[in-house]
Amino acid sequence: MNSVRVRFAPSPTGFVHIGSLRTALYNYLYAKKHNGTFILRIEDTDRSRYVEGAVNNLLSTLAWCGLSCDEGPEKEGHNAPYYQSQRLDLYTKYCEQLLKDNYAYPCFCSEERLEEMRKRQMKNKLPLKYDGLCRTIRPEEALKRAEQEKHVIRMKVPTDGKTVVKDIIRGDTVFQNFQVDDQVLIKSDGYPTYHLANVVDDHLMQITHVIRGEEWLPSTPKHILLYRYLGWETPVFAHLPLLLNPDRSKLSKRQGDVSVEDFRAQGYLPEALINFVALLGWNRGDDQEIFSIDELIESFTLERINKSGAIFNREKLDWMNGVHIRQIPQQQYFAYASPFKPDPMDDAAFQSIALTVRERIVTLSELRDKASTYAGETIEHYSEDAQEWILKPESKKVYQAFLDHVQDYDSVTLDSFRTLMGQVQKSSGIKGKELWMPVRAALTGLTEGPELPSVIEILGKEKIINFIKQALSLQ
Ligand code: GLU
Repeated sequence: MNSVRVRFAPSPTGFVHIGSLRTALYNYLYAKKHNGTFILRIEDTDRSRYVEGAVNNLLSTLAWCGLSCDEGPEKEGHNAPYYQSQRLDLYTKYCEQLLKDNYAYPCFCSEERLEEMRKRQMKNKLPLKYDGLCRTIRPEEALKRAEQEKHVIRMKVPTDGKTVVKDIIRGDTVFQNFQVDDQVLIKSDGYPTYHLANVVDDHLMQITHVIRGEEWLPSTPKHILLYRYLGWETPVFAHLPLLLNPDRSKLSKRQGDVSVEDFRAQGYLPEALINFVALLGWNRGDDQEIFSIDELIESFTLERINKSGAIFNREKLDWMNGVHIRQIPQQQYFAYASPFKPDPMDDAAFQSIALTVRERIVTLSELRDKASTYAGETIEHYSEDAQEWILKPESKKVYQAFLDHVQDYDSVTLDSFRTLMGQVQKSSGIKGKELWMPVRAALTGLTEGPELPSVIEILGKEKIINFIKQALSLQ
């Protein structure tokens, strides 16, 4: 067999849907597993859907996820993607071949006529497709008219027989040709539609496996016919199952976050997102759930992808994120955490907080809140337990003794804090939990959470005094 060549072929529309990430990932995994080639192709021939900045956003999101492509026109030493908008001549060339061989024809029907036709078909419960009026125009006449008149080019789908889509995941799907539309190949603005450009490029780029979302399955008979008309071999098809909400409705933006960018902004790690989407419709055949990218590459097969829709379970993503937060190397953790550092706060202080809470957080965005506690001039919020401790009569004695003794220190370091607390214990006569909890509550606003020593180092003498005074003022 030829070496594996696959492609991720998004139409950039603004943000990267989590389903697109899965398509990209499965293509990537399949290429890596077979020492093949992973190509990125930007399908940007629909000018009405052009969104400024969408491609850059897509590229940076894929790079953040570690899904780099192996081939493409070089740009500053990196493999840049292919852009269909830069390959328009090719599509025109093959369209001309289809016209010449009578597999395509110009269509001059107006929008109004097409609209009326659609209404009529809907009313009569007929398949919604072009009725073939312009198919009957003699080719020489049609080509002549096309020189002057506004038109599109349509493919000629046989009116009888059937087209079978063979799919690794779904087996055979049979389409009756009379139900397949005479698809527009070239629009009136001269740009190709997705269908023509996609087939031409998959052939020219020698794509061996087309791995894409299930929503493209109904288009596949048209593609198969185009391959046949152009005398080309069809690639292997694998249509991935839909992504569903827990109520089995289609996963869409209306129901909440679906874009990779949203998840990134909320502090999900690429390792966790990759792990999570890998399991949306695929499993290794055992119950392992935490995978590194290398393990995924090693275990991935198209045959183990399910046919039925995959449910998007947010709790599972949260759990996986926590696991990956705790398992990545420390430097990597700091790098991912740094966008969540509140200002102003120095890196060392932030990292120290990040380490203290690493065992407990679900997403990195929690670091912002946790760190803000120490960055502010006052404690913004006390937990209920913390308030209870602060308001105990013994706590007042602890705070007063603390403020008396702290005056004798130039700075409060970890060592001096211990000595200081020893003095507080002696002069207040309070020890154990009754001594430590009020101090913890005053300095962190919490009764559990960050270890006191790490908090002390971050706060420094001035803030420690202010926070103790703030607690005392609540009494
Ligand atoms: N441009 C299509 C999309 O946006 C690609 C579909 C395919 O992979 O063939 O999903």
